[in-house]
Amino acid sequence: MYLTTSIAVLITLVEQTELAEEPMATHVHLICLAVQPLMETAPLPQMEPSALMRLVDLWVLRLRGICAHQRAHVARAMVIVEVHQIIVRQHQGVKQLSELVMIQAQREMGEDYCTSPDCQFNYGPACDANKIPSGTNTSSIQRNKVGSVLYGSAGIYDCVQAGDMALTFDDGPFIYTSHILNLLQQYNATATFFITGNNNGQSFQQKRYVEEFTDDLLGKGEIDNTSLAWPALIKRMYSEGHQVASHTWSHPDLSNITSLQRKNEMWKNEMALRNILGVIPTYMRSPYSSCTAESGCEGDLNDLGYHITFFNLDTSDYLNDSPTLIQNSKNIFDAAVNSSNPSTDEFLVIAHDIHNQTSQVLVEYMLQGLKAKDYKPVSVGTCLGDPMENWYRTDTSATLGS
Ligand SMILES: [Zn+2]
Repeated sequence: MYLTTSIAVLITLVEQTELAEEPMATHVHLICLAVQPLMETAPLPQMEPSALMRLVDLWVLRLRGICAHQRAHVARAMVIVEVHQIIVRQHQGVKQLSELVMIQAQREMGEDYCTSPDCQFNYGPACDANKIPSGTNTSSIQRNKVGSVLYGSAGIYDCVQAGDMALTFDDGPFIYTSHILNLLQQYNATATFFITGNNNGQSFQQKRYVEEFTDDLLGKGEIDNTSLAWPALIKRMYSEGHQVASHTWSHPDLSNITSLQRKNEMWKNEMALRNILGVIPTYMRSPYSSCTAESGCEGDLNDLGYHITFFNLDTSDYLNDSPTLIQNSKNIFDAAVNSSNPSTDEFLVIAHDIHNQTSQVLVEYMLQGLKAKDYKPVSVGTCLGDPMENWYRTDTSATLGS
């Protein structure tokens, strides 16, 4: 009975809010706020996991109706987390059920979730993803393809120089980045940073989700906002010889948006990086490792003159951001590196500078490990044999705008 009431309230709320121009997460929050007291004041029936899942399915069906967006599974995961929290508060004894719910939530987020939830930018102008950096749009600049490294296409997974190890960090900069830069300096190492322009699309609900797993909060603002710490950090990366590359403006799944949206994601990040460095990168990594030929993504990035950069060693640090779990990432690193041979092998490693344990533990561990095995810690460009002048587009006649 209470479930029926909850669902009825939910549906009413969804219908009422359907026309509002707000990011989807606001709806999720409203819905959860409405349903939560109903479920908390009356005991949940002895629900089988399958019944609970059916309830969640119904919520999500409605959410899909509002969002009409490919990343509805993020909404689903957030709802599941809400349900989980209610269950934990109300039924101390149903550990098994709540664990099932959390497993389902993790599954919904996908294995390649890298803690930068997409703002639902199709939904309305309130979304941070729709913000535009100042200055001239880079859409009309000339994009010569220099060097011999593959542009667009299926992308790059491996270094070409044996003995090289390219450490790469996605999603930053963030509050943990400066410590990583200090360590790189200390170990005389060069790395690559795939920068996201605006990870501010995180709502209250999304932040709570991230906290559950990582203790991290993003909501960091645009990278070229000079009142924030990010421009100085990106300048420091650049001036200390690290490679600065693009990870899109707002971290969408590039295979699931239109060609124009995809280009805007790249142009806006170019504008922001141009505002900081005066140059724009030629290397990028697609969020969620997603950039298919069928969607047109590979072709668009080729047209924009980008090298699509993947990896061959995934530390899974985003899944292991706790003092106990980070050992898993160390083990992954060791399993790959300890049995390798630097005279024949190379590594293109992915980690994320938005995680505390990555910064505090994993980076130094990897630096010590790679030195012990005689690998050279270099940037992606270097490990591909591409000279530094090819990593960026610059133009003395200022066609990049300002
Ligand atoms: Zn990412």
